[in-house]
Parts: sequence; C-alpha cells; structure tokens
Amino acid sequence: MTTARAYVTGGTSNGEAWLVEPRRLGAELKLSSDTTECCCAYNMLKLTRHLYRWTADPRYFDYYERTLYNHRLGAINLQNGHTQYYLSIVPAAWRTFGTEDLSFWCCNGTGVEDFSKLNNSIYFHDAEGIYVNLFIPSELDWKEKGIRLRQETVFPDSPQTILVIETPAPAHMPFHIRIPRWVGANASLRVNGELFPVIPTPGSYLSVSRTWKQGDRVQVDVPMYLYTESMPDESTTRALLYGPLVLAGKFGSDGLNELMIVGPLGPDVKKHPLMVPPLQASSKNLDSWLKPIPGESLTFRTTGQERDVTLVPLDRVPEERYSVYWTVT
Ligand SMILES: [Zn+2]
Repeated sequence: MTTARAYVTGGTSNGEAWLVEPRRLGAELKLSSDTTECCCAYNMLKLTRHLYRWTADPRYFDYYERTLYNHRLGAINLQNGHTQYYLSIVPAAWRTFGTEDLSFWCCNGTGVEDFSKLNNSIYFHDAEGIYVNLFIPSELDWKEKGIRLRQETVFPDSPQTILVIETPAPAHMPFHIRIPRWVGANASLRVNGELFPVIPTPGSYLSVSRTWKQGDRVQVDVPMYLYTESMPDESTTRALLYGPLVLAGKFGSDGLNELMIVGPLGPDVKKHPLMVPPLQASSKNLDSWLKPIPGESLTFRTTGQERDVTLVPLDRVPEERYSVYWTVT
C-alpha cells in the first residue's frame, strides 16, 4: 500500500478504487480528479498504528506523519468543521467539503472520529520506557511509572521540539525519540543544554537512558530540507517536499464559487480547467530555484520561471486552487 499505491501525500485510491496496476500512479492520476478518499487515509493511519505495535519499527511513523500532515490535517474546514470526501491532488484542484445536511458521506463520518483523536499516537511505551513518535505539543501522564512529559513545540513551523520531564522522585527510564527519515544534516539532541554524544540516524530511534529529575529538558532538532519525489511511472512528474511536508503551489480562487466547493465529489477540474505551467528546473539542488519567503513560515517561491509560483504546505490551502505534482524537466 505505502510504496505501490500511495501518492506523495500518503493518500490512496481514485474514485473509491484502484483504477490501474500497482506503481502506475501517474497514469491513475489522469483518470479522475476524485483522488485519495479520506476514509482510506484515516483507515491507513489506524492500520499503521496497529502494525507499529507489533514491531515498534519507526518506518511506520514516517508514513503516519506523512499522511497526518499532508492528507488529514487539511481535510477539515477550520471555520465550520465540515470535512472532505476526496482530497484531490490533480493539477489546479481545489478542496470540496461536505455540508451539514445536504452532502454527508462516509468520509464526513470518519472525519468526526479522526479529528477527535489526533493525540492518540504521539507516545507509546513498552515495559521500560517511552517512545516519542510525533512532534506535537502535548502532555503525557504515565501514571504507573509516576512520570509526566510535556512536549513544547510549534513543529513544523520550527523543526524542533522540547520535552520537559516532571517526576516527583528521580526515575530511571529510556526515552526513544523518533528521528524522521526526512531529517537533514545536523540533527541533534541535547539534555539540559548539553549535546548528546550520538549522531542521530534518520529513520531510527535515538535512545536516551538515564535517571530523570524534575525539570529535565530534552531538546531535539530535526532540520528540514527541500527535495522531490517522482511518480513511480513518470520520472518527470514530481512533488516538492520540505521535511515531511508536501508543498502545494497556490493558484488563487479566481472563478471558484460556493457551489463548486460543495461535495461529495472532488473538484470538476475538467469543466473548470486551469493550466499549471511546467517548472523549468532541476529536480536536484532545489535551493537554487525555490527560495523561502522571509518572514512567512514554510512559504517558498520559485525563481526564474515563466510564471513564478508561491508554495506552502498542502494543509494550508483551504480555499483556493493548488497543485501538488509538477512537470520538472
Ligand atoms: Zn469515505
């Protein structure tokens, strides 16, 4: 599922089905704009969490994080709580949402479940210690061990998290902190300001075992960098990513009206087409043509293109056209 059937967002399916053979996602994307049903993404998160508990393999959480940030987070309208059925990732798509009583689909139901338990996979434990899998501000109270953990972070706007330990008596325990697969150079961990003398390996856990005292602080830095991922069957069709985040090009809301954003189906892009320009750029050295906009968090702008485009994380384009895949020559 995650390698042969999932798009870059972690989502899968098209029109509630798989329309082509495995690993032909570029071909599948051309068949319909009703891509990546939200139930599929949500249920894959449940399955991932279940499988993870058998092995504690951190790769499961690379997938989980990818799907959580890029598919699930944006699939709710923050103004009214309406959720999506399909998250379309065809060029120049826009989000369509269910309504309270005229369009209410399976995914609107799972959406209610999903957004009520965003906190249920941040931490896990075995007999001895705690696994920190996601960088989300939260508090953990492990009553049996008498230890509390407070995670302070604005991730992903800042690629860092801080764990503050609260324990009435000193407690010996390992913490296993997930070092994501996407992490760049210079990842590091500090305990009470002091650099931990192990270089973190992307896609693994960094384990710190010691006797923790009240107020101890663990700081984890996970620098992000820009990179691309191509369709398995089309090497020049690529998505742009920054850390775990799929970047979406912003194409404005001209021509969209309230009727067009009502589901259940995805956007009717064929009826309302918009040309997405190919990027005249290399899929390597993205830093040379994709620049962060100063003062705007996680916002980038292309340079040197026929028509330059601003890109932001996919969950941050609630009400306009966007593009996830590009032709990169
Ligand atoms: Zn559904």
